[in-house]
Formats: sequence, C-alpha cells, structure tokens
Amino acid sequence: MGVSGNVVALCSYETTKLVRIHSVRLGSLKWTLNATVLLFICVLMLWNRKYQQFDQVVSSVTAKVKGVARMQLPGEEAVIWDEADYSGPSQDKNSFFVVTNVIVTKNQKQGRCPETPSSGRRCRHHNDCKRGAWEPHSHGIQTGSCVKFDALARTCEVAAWCPVEAKHKPPRFTPALLASAEKFTVLIKNNIHFPAFNFIRRNILPEMTESYLTRCQRGNDSLCPVFTLGDVVHQAGGNFSTMAVEGGVIGIQIKWDCNLDHLTRRCLPAYSFRRLDQKESNKTLSPGFNFRFAKYKTVEERTLYKAFGIRFDIMVFGQAGKFSFIQLVVYIGSTLSYYALTTVLMDWLIGTTCYAAEEGQNYSERKVESIPDKKECILCVSYVDEENIRLVKMSRKKRLQDVKTICVQTRKEDIGHMMATLCLLPDPQPSPTKPQRRPPSWCKCGGCSGSPLPQEELCCRRSDEGACVATSALFDKLSLQRPLLEALLVYQEPLAQTPPSAAALRRCAYRQYIVWRLGVPPADARPAIPRCCVMRIREAFPSPDGRYGGFALANEAEM
Ligand code: ZN
Ligand code: ZN
Repeated sequence: MGVSGNVVALCSYETTKLVRIHSVRLGSLKWTLNATVLLFICVLMLWNRKYQQFDQVVSSVTAKVKGVARMQLPGEEAVIWDEADYSGPSQDKNSFFVVTNVIVTKNQKQGRCPETPSSGRRCRHHNDCKRGAWEPHSHGIQTGSCVKFDALARTCEVAAWCPVEAKHKPPRFTPALLASAEKFTVLIKNNIHFPAFNFIRRNILPEMTESYLTRCQRGNDSLCPVFTLGDVVHQAGGNFSTMAVEGGVIGIQIKWDCNLDHLTRRCLPAYSFRRLDQKESNKTLSPGFNFRFAKYKTVEERTLYKAFGIRFDIMVFGQAGKFSFIQLVVYIGSTLSYYALTTVLMDWLIGTTCYAAEEGQNYSERKVESIPDKKECILCVSYVDEENIRLVKMSRKKRLQDVKTICVQTRKEDIGHMMATLCLLPDPQPSPTKPQRRPPSWCKCGGCSGSPLPQEELCCRRSDEGACVATSALFDKLSLQRPLLEALLVYQEPLAQTPPSAAALRRCAYRQYIVWRLGVPPADARPAIPRCCVMRIREAFPSPDGRYGGFALANEAEM
C-alpha cells in the first residue's frame, strides 16, 4: 500500500491554481504596469546595447612631436632646440616628453671637486670627512679631505663628474626656457584591434590625406589627430607657461566606443585630456616632472642636463559591440523577473483593506485557502445581532464568547433545506415554559446559564443587550416542535421502527439551529451553538438520566 502510494505520488504533477478577478480597474492597471516595464526594458536594451557581445580594445600608439624653439641661457648665446634635443631619451612606449626648462652643467670631467653644501657634508677638518663614504643626495664618493666650497662654506671633497651640479630647484624665471614649446604640434597615431571581431582601425581615418593632416585644427574638427601642446594642457585644465617651469604629467585619453552592427555602424575615437600629477606645486614635496640626461663630447667630457618638462601619457581604452543572439536571449531572460513587480504591486493593492473594501470584496480570502492544523479547532459562530458569521479558534481556557475572531465570513444559506423545513412547519404548539435563571456576566441576552466548560460559554448576542434568539417564535417552530423534528428524522430514516429518542431529537434540533443561523458552515470549521439555545433544547427534550454530552459531544456526536 505504502509503496504503491509512493509510486502514485511520483507519477503526478503539481501546478498552481490561480484566481481571476474580473475588474476593469485592476485589468487596466495590470496592462499599464506591464507596458511600463516593457518600455523600461526596451529603453535599457537600446541605450546600453544589451543585445550585443562586447570586446575590449587592443592598441598601439606612437607620437611624433614637431617644432623648433630658441633657448637663451643667461650669459650665453642663444641656441636652437629641435625635436632631437627637447624630446629627451624615449620614455615609456605610450608616452612622449617635451623639455620646457633645464639646468645645464657644462664641461663635466671625471675628477675631484668640493660637494655643494646642500647635497654633501659640511666640514672644518679633514677628520670630518671619511674616505669612501657616500651620502644619499651626494654627487660622488668622498675622498676624505675637507676643501673650501666658497667664501663661507667648506665641504667634503668628492670624486665625481666635476664640477658638480650646483642648483636643485628649476630656474624660476618666466617664461621658462622653452616656453615656446606651447606651439609645438604632436601627431598621435593609434592603431586598434578588437580580436573577437577581427576588426582593425586607425585614428587616422582612410579619408584623411596628407594635406588634411597639415591643415586640420582641433578647434573645429574633433577627429583631427594633430594636437598643439598648449591646447592639450589648456583642455586638461592647466596653464602651459606655469606648468613649463617645473614640468608635469598630462594624460591624453583616446576612447573608442564602437558599434559594429551594419545598420548603426560607428567607430570613431574621442579624445579627452587630464592632468595626472598634483597641480598645486607648493603643496607637494617633489612637484612636477624632471629627469637628467647627458650629452657626451668625448668619453671624458660631458654636458649634464636636468630637464624639466611635460610628459604626455597616451591611454587608449574602449570596447566594440556586435549583435549576438545569445546575448539578446540572456538579456531577455534576465528581465523577465521585472514583471514580478506588477504582481507584487497588484497583490499589495488588492490586499490593502481600503481597496478591497471599496470593491466590496475580500480578495485575500478568495485567493488564499487556509487549512488549519489538525490540533487546532476552528469554530464558527453566529450572533443574532450580526449579519455575518465569525470564525474563532477554540480554546479550552478562554470563554468562547470572549475568544478573538480570526475572520468574518458571509453566511451561505442552505436554501433547499430551509424550503423543505418550512413546508413541514406545523402550527405552533405551546412549548414548555422556561424557568427563570439568573444569567452569567458574559450573557447579553439573559437566557444563558454558566457552564463548567469555557468553550461552551457563548451567547446568542455579541455586544448589544437585547432579546434572546431562543425566545423567538421561529426558534420555537424550527427547533422545539416535536412533530417537525420527528418528521425530519423520518425523512432521514424513512423505515425507522421505534419512535426517536430524546438524544436524536436534540441532535435534530441542534442541526435545525445550525442550518437556520449558520447556513452551510465553512468546511474547516465546526459550528458552535449559543448556551441559551442549548439550554432551551435540553429543556424541551430532556435526557432521561439527566446527563448530557459536553461540547465535544454536542458538536460531534449529537450533530
Ligand atoms: Zn445569553
Ligand atoms: Zn440567547
């Protein structure tokens, strides 16, 4: 049995049961929300090209600087510097350098000379200097003798390229020595490759001719690959003449955002500029950008240059996208969950009491089927001063009259049974007079009596004091008239031989009350009968031995 049960459970499929609400307002709201979500998804897809597969750029860059400047060192003849002079030795592969200021130390030879006081060690005697010692900022290795540097200071002698470089700070005269480098031009050549699409392109476009490159200006043509250094520094937010003194680093960014689809093909570079080093030279300890290089006359003699200048770093980044069916499917799949927002919003709306009350519906009750735990017992109760029936949880400690209501439901009339009963209605016969008892405190109708079981303590009225339902003529007719009850019992058991017992009559009377007051009780709830009605029925059909079943009996056995 167990095995076959399991097999049956395996060979089954569970699906979700839905509730359809016929409402113009909810329907149009649903379509509006869904249309909004769809619009959002489409806009997002077209804007971010979510239907494309993307690849990152691979690139190479070269830069060619052109320009000539005249340099006038103090007290010397002017010299002309061309790109071979001011470019310095080549730096990183994606950058170029332009010298704008220099400290020149001419005719250096290998030899012995006094160190500058700022770089070396000051001394008074030969003992202050140590042969072979070396200071971090020193230009050479100490020879061990203390010599005169100038009229004021004596320093340790070093073995070095002599004379040693005397200045540290860049010469502060403005304009800088090579301030005219502002007018230099640079041609940037950038080749890019998107390996995934095997797509190659240059920033010098096929339609650009030699004459175009000599004529084009960045001011009116954003694609022109020829830049003036002054413009580059200016667009990076700097000032060339101040930057020329101490040097600096400028980033030239080339961004490729390519769309390789046939209809919307577009693949052009966009240039932007940014200063990469610290702008405020007085706030940084080692400002600007500089390095040293030497030009050798012979092996023994050289001229040392400490070059200050602007380094331009060219950074290329970007991506290319091309339509991909897989990406489109993945994107559509990932957006399906957005439609759940509609459900969440609508469920919240029909769950809010204000909307549901406005529509006169209790949607959540229709939507959710609640099944009680076996241990707890739900009772349904009807009060004569209320239209609906209430479901309450049975408690063995709390009086049924005082138990909190779980929910309120409309009563389902059992019309067929009612009609049949009314057809059988006889003329009322005088029912036994009811003895007067003092009602307990929870009773509102004045007809109830106390019970040892709290779950039996239920009045026929909820709040207002008033007449008892058990004193009504219809209660009398439906539940207390022996001929009617006997007729009903015969209707149930047409061939019964013996006259019905008092217990059977009571059961029938209880059922009459339930069908009258509660209609068809909800499937998962047990009907509860007010104490006053139970007492009237017991008085009408007393048990011969004076014993009655308790609540459990009244609701299970007696019914
Ligand atoms: Zn009462
Ligand atoms: Zn009552």
